Amino acid sequence: MNEGIAASGTTMKRACRASKPDGSSCRADALPESDFCFFHDPSKADERRKATAFGGRQNRMKTLEATTPDVEIEDTRDVVRLIAETINQVRRGQIDPRVANAVGYLANVLIRAVEQGELERRLVDLAALVKTARPASPSRSDL
Ligand SMILES: [Zn+2]
Repeated sequence: MNEGIAASGTTMKRACRASKPDGSSCRADALPESDFCFFHDPSKADERRKATAFGGRQNRMKTLEATTPDVEIEDTRDVVRLIAETINQVRRGQIDPRVANAVGYLANVLIRAVEQGELERRLVDLAALVKTARPASPSRSDL
């Protein structure tokens, strides 16, 4: 029924004769002058290797050297400094924007933890202040 459409095409496509690791046959179209597709043609091995190596290079994320010293982060000012530094590293192409994204996300988590810590410290100070201000009040003794 669909023969008319198939016949109107250029040449009949031949399927690759190789079989996949799971034993099923490769359904990709064979290359012209070959019984195999690009991925299975033995004469294309070198080309394939180059393409893979290039792809690998393209996909590798740019990061700082593993020997880069750790950043010390104790307060929000340290976080601001880190983010500013990260912005500049992205602009200079020293790190991949995806790495910078992760840094930004983690800095955000960190800044909240630092702020939480500061808030808790202030609450403790405040509680101590209330305690010393009203030492006789039994209802406030749990503060
Ligand atoms: Zn194939």
